Amino acid sequence: MKNFLFTLFIFSFSTIITAQPEEGYQYTQNKTYTYQQAQDIYKSLAKKYDKAKFYPVGKSDIGLDINVFIISGDKDFNPKSLQDKNRSVLLINNAIHPGEPCGVDASIKLAYDLLSSDKYAELLEQTLVCIIPFYNVGGGLNRSCCSRANQNGPEEYGFRGNFKNRDLNRDFIKCDTKNAQIFTQIYHTCKPDVFIDTHTTNGSDFQYTMSLIASQPDKLNQHLRDYLRNTMLPFLYEDMKKKKKEIIPYVYNYKKTPDDGIKDYLDSPRYSTGYSTLFNGIGFVTEALKYKPYKDRVEHTYEFLMTTLKWMYKNHDELKAVRKKAIEDVISQTEFELAWIHDTTLYEQIDFKGYEVEYVESEFGENAKYQTYNQNKPYTKKINYYNRYKATTKITKPTAYIIPQAYTKVIERFKWNKINMKQLTKDTIADVEMYYITDYKTVKQPYEGHYLHYGVTVKTKVVPVKFYKGDYIVFVNQPGNRYIVETLEPQGMDSFFAWNFFDGILQQKEWFSAFSFEATAKEMLANDKNLKADFDKKKQEDSEFAKSRNQQLFYLYKKSPYYEDTHNRYPIARLIKN
Ligand SMILES: [Zn+2]
Repeated sequence: MKNFLFTLFIFSFSTIITAQPEEGYQYTQNKTYTYQQAQDIYKSLAKKYDKAKFYPVGKSDIGLDINVFIISGDKDFNPKSLQDKNRSVLLINNAIHPGEPCGVDASIKLAYDLLSSDKYAELLEQTLVCIIPFYNVGGGLNRSCCSRANQNGPEEYGFRGNFKNRDLNRDFIKCDTKNAQIFTQIYHTCKPDVFIDTHTTNGSDFQYTMSLIASQPDKLNQHLRDYLRNTMLPFLYEDMKKKKKEIIPYVYNYKKTPDDGIKDYLDSPRYSTGYSTLFNGIGFVTEALKYKPYKDRVEHTYEFLMTTLKWMYKNHDELKAVRKKAIEDVISQTEFELAWIHDTTLYEQIDFKGYEVEYVESEFGENAKYQTYNQNKPYTKKINYYNRYKATTKITKPTAYIIPQAYTKVIERFKWNKINMKQLTKDTIADVEMYYITDYKTVKQPYEGHYLHYGVTVKTKVVPVKFYKGDYIVFVNQPGNRYIVETLEPQGMDSFFAWNFFDGILQQKEWFSAFSFEATAKEMLANDKNLKADFDKKKQEDSEFAKSRNQQLFYLYKKSPYYEDTHNRYPIARLIKN
């Protein structure tokens, strides 16, 4: 008993010590706070300052809380009243990859500075700050010295995968983890105008300490696209430069080295900024460079958060107006883009501060050379920045989609994402447009717990389909339209079809016995001249088909009334009329 109390005393004492950020931030000593320390600090800040509240939102996969810490300048925490006051909202997500903890430490410093000093009071006048202190709790508890090869500190940090070894920055749309489910609750309660997900990156080395991924503007609604590209981003880069913490767009090499140009990242909705794009949020991923000292990485992340808040303060009315326009647009727009490719014909020129690339003989393999960066040879030169994407697939929205109630995974996710749905009050037969999957490819190895489909092609057919009382009808006339369309249209890059939610339809359930079908096949050809003509044509054109009894019988089976019409028929109906 004595030992237990003693241990408890030591534990509480150390908790109190580390829960006082003003006594010295851990990042200055190349350390990052643990999940528990971060919780304790935020709890103590919420206790001390009535402008702040700390809310446990729900249990992560490992059974511990994911929390949100909210700072409200006028101490108002009522969502309805904050909405009436037209507050803008900044949501910051930390430790999605706990080995990249700059944001954990930067956000604690941000919270402390915003609360403890009047110096920043104006930043809170119109803006609510919501911080997720530690998103990947399971990964955060899995701490070690070195799961990120050659990272320059901190001394110890968490692991990228969550407890189920999932990458949460691929889970925003499919929501396999409890963490992602909780994130949707936080996102739709806070309704951020601007969302920042904090990370650390590797890859090439350059003079900057931090790079930035913004929501790919070409995927945003046109009002947000122009605003982000022409107004907001130039301010953010300029302000960071003024603070002597210059940043660069994420260095994603167009070819082999940054000298050949860099390109924008295509943020499909599995990623954080792709997800916020679906709800007309402006998203950023800060990517501090892992070769730079931890202290500098945290300070760059902190300054970027401050710069964003400064922007939101100075441009509050315009930001709210642009977002309002975008949301109204999306409610009424009839055409939606589903997939994009890089447009290599368009680029901007930007200044790039890099290091000379050198090729060095490797001691491994035979005659192998590797590319390295000589920090003694810094340079500044203009490089091409290929930052444009163009849509490759567009669809016209239906009036509504009908989701059979059997597809519970879809319905759950729609509820989590606050999509308005109605249930049919009686059994109904309706003429609806159905998709038939005509082709798709599937990855060979499991990816994030799935065998992802891609290259999906479809044909459509209007057919009468019976729906049952309790099936869900989703009208495409709401702020979540892009979420609805990009998840339900099977050709969407991160559609629920792509993520295997509908694999059941891809398997034929009934078959035929070749010996008994032989006579039926003969009869079909004898009774249907057109069928016979098509069949003969196919034999002439396809020599393999001409030789194969199995192929010929299967061809005729598919044309017979025995063949199941639901094979490859995508089960979500498109209702075209009212
Ligand atoms: Zn990351």
